[in-house]
Amino acid sequence: MPRPEGRGVIMRYELFGTLNQVGGRAVCDLDDEGPEGLEWPLVGPVCGRIALTNTGSSINAHGYLKTVMRMECSRCLQPVEVPLDIEVNEECALAQIDSPQPPAGDQIPLLDEATVDLSELVRQMLGLHTPLRVLCAPDCKGLCPHCGADLNRGKCNCKQDDIDPRLMPLKQLTGQ
Ligand SMILES: [Zn+2]
Ligand SMILES: [Zn+2]
Repeated sequence: MPRPEGRGVIMRYELFGTLNQVGGRAVCDLDDEGPEGLEWPLVGPVCGRIALTNTGSSINAHGYLKTVMRMECSRCLQPVEVPLDIEVNEECALAQIDSPQPPAGDQIPLLDEATVDLSELVRQMLGLHTPLRVLCAPDCKGLCPHCGADLNRGKCNCKQDDIDPRLMPLKQLTGQ
């Protein structure tokens, strides 16, 4: 499928108008920088393949996305690269992404022209599949709750009479 030159955040693909007709289908191969507005930066491009099909009532987007997100360990705050491998099966609408009137229901807007813009679809998919918490290692010792030292690099000089910092999130969770 021909596509605009170069990589860019806009994720636009030429469609030759086929998607405007019921049964119309277009396949977009992605190898782009991520869209803006993500909670965490991406380490590499967003790759994948999305097939768009006009079902009459909406545009079905079906395929997969892969990328790597740079998050922070929930315990020690060191950077952690998190691979994302996402299956996509979403209903979209042919509507201007920046239209003041959002499309009906849960549909994700695409451009209704000779090109389609997948950036909003990709942004929503990445947001939906971003883990809430990641760890740099299953046994990460975290930060000292008193002095903030990274306990993976050795003990600090604080008195270790408090609760094991690894249990802190559990303690916060149960509100004790
Ligand atoms: Zn860690
Ligand atoms: Zn300490």
